[in-house]
Amino acid sequence: MKFIGAHVSAAGGVSNAPLNAKNIGAKAFALFTKNQRRWYAKPIPPEEVERFHLNLEESGIPIEYILPHDSYLINLGHPDKEKRQKSLDAFIDEVRRCELLGLKYLNFHPGSHLKMVSEEECLNIVADSINRTLDVTDGVTLVIENTAGQGSNVGYRFEHLAFIIDKVEDKSRIGVCLDTCHLFAAGYDIRTREAYEKTMAEFEEIVGFKYLKGVHLNDAKSELGSRVDRHHSIGKGNLGIEPFRFLMNDERFNNIPMVLETIEPLLWPEEIKLLYSLIKE
Ligand SMILES: [Zn+2]
Ligand SMILES: [Zn+2]
Repeated sequence: MKFIGAHVSAAGGVSNAPLNAKNIGAKAFALFTKNQRRWYAKPIPPEEVERFHLNLEESGIPIEYILPHDSYLINLGHPDKEKRQKSLDAFIDEVRRCELLGLKYLNFHPGSHLKMVSEEECLNIVADSINRTLDVTDGVTLVIENTAGQGSNVGYRFEHLAFIIDKVEDKSRIGVCLDTCHLFAAGYDIRTREAYEKTMAEFEEIVGFKYLKGVHLNDAKSELGSRVDRHHSIGKGNLGIEPFRFLMNDERFNNIPMVLETIEPLLWPEEIKLLYSLIKE
């Protein structure tokens, strides 16, 4: 089965997110457990945790179809030790917020080398940050997202993801999220059946579907291989509708959260319906 939703708002408190998901007909969702543009946040009060679970029950969405996303400020691959520590502290706090809410995953972008170190060195730093985080937390699987490779971001090649995973000590708590826009921007074509199968075969060979924990469903304003991260509404960008038809009918993407991060939230209910309509009986 496919579990499709969107990255919904948690404004006013995390307990609002499940209701926002329900209102758009989602069977999965993503959220920020704190303001994603700030370093610090107050702990989630126990009443809010309780409300979150009540609302989640009302939404009918099982907890394993929630894919929380960390703050945009965090760079686990920061070459500067002090600044990296600030990111690591914030990341560990994010994992603990997920633990508190009983969430299974935390989705994050691997990091940026800021032109201060090589890509490989940056990837080593990311892996070290992940290991440090796993050491002091419990139960939450860290889900690395493939990136568009914009600026000095690492994680735009499957080899980068595999390199990090290889260095993670507890492989039971590491996973991958594939973002369709980022794939395309990074140079992985999925627009034709042939290109799609080639890209997915490469993913299986280099990373492995056993690590796949989620998908970000985005069309792309950017061009193939442009390394520019610009999302578009489903079917309106350079990807078009076909890649989403392939995805919706690909069993390798069953039973994981698949969430829209498209640019027009008003279209989410329609986009979710459209995606489900692509599934062949
Ligand atoms: Zn994404
Ligand atoms: Zn993006």
